[in-house]
Amino acid sequence: MFESLQSRLGGIFDKLTKRGSLSESDVSEAMREVRVALLEADVALSVVKDFVKKAKEKAIGEEVLKGINPGQMVIKIVHDCMVEMLGSDDTAINLKAVPPVAILMVGLQGAGKTTTSAKIGLMLKKKERKKVLLASLDVYRPAAQQQLEVLAKQAELNSLPIVFGEQPVAIAKRAMVEARKGGYDVVILDTAGRLHIDEKLMDEVAQVRDVANPAETLLVTDAMTGQDSVNVAKEFNDKIGITGIALTRVDGDARGGAALSMKEVTGAPIKVMGVGEKINELEAFHADRVAGRILG
Ligand code: GDP
Repeated sequence: MFESLQSRLGGIFDKLTKRGSLSESDVSEAMREVRVALLEADVALSVVKDFVKKAKEKAIGEEVLKGINPGQMVIKIVHDCMVEMLGSDDTAINLKAVPPVAILMVGLQGAGKTTTSAKIGLMLKKKERKKVLLASLDVYRPAAQQQLEVLAKQAELNSLPIVFGEQPVAIAKRAMVEARKGGYDVVILDTAGRLHIDEKLMDEVAQVRDVANPAETLLVTDAMTGQDSVNVAKEFNDKIGITGIALTRVDGDARGGAALSMKEVTGAPIKVMGVGEKINELEAFHADRVAGRILG
């Protein structure tokens, strides 16, 4: 579907037979191809500009390693820069607070919030031996609360009983009270999404945040969404404050440039990635894997 960066750069450097260090003009020409590859992968323009500038500074004058050609050398440098920009040593979900520790899940409708809420619950139960309560605050999308209940059952986790007609802030309060009473370690609050960001949604999420005082506010974002998602991330970060990102649909066939944009725009680490629809298909984020795909 996309021309790989490897073949794009190959074309440029094939013309050059000279080895040694990368000259400024070679690098400039190569970076034009890098720029196109990133834009095709749906990385936001502002992020592309910054990235290319950084990668260029790194590449100029760099010795071409033995056994590889200049094109491969540029790809290596660009790949390393991307892993550095995407990566974090910080993929653990922060549970450092007095239990019950709240995790607030936010994002647009369809991003994968409900699924990821259950996935994270299961991961914390299995790996950290935590007692987890799931609560859906999505009173707008029909059957959203039931969807979380079904997923909770699959994961053998408890979910907060549904009280029809109860509003999100009240649900959050009840979840925290029940979690305290029930001796839970973690409460995962799955908030409502919208098709687009609106004031009401943001105000509501902010009120929920104030009630639950979460240790983590995770922005759930779909790796297949393009540049739109940058505005979404910015908005959520400005209004709510994001502490981490959950990237979903990393198993899809999109190149996933949104990941780089999200990380750059929010400054928050990408902590987990969804790699399938099944409840156990969640992994700690691997910058390497995502960088390889963005570069094509
Ligand atoms: P929400 O509206 O944000 O709560 O989104 P949902 O959790 O309902 O997810 C929307 C759809 O995306 C569902 O069909 C999920 O099964 C699917 N989904 C979520 N995460 C992933 C993932 O990592 N990979 C794949 N392939 N599908 C996913």
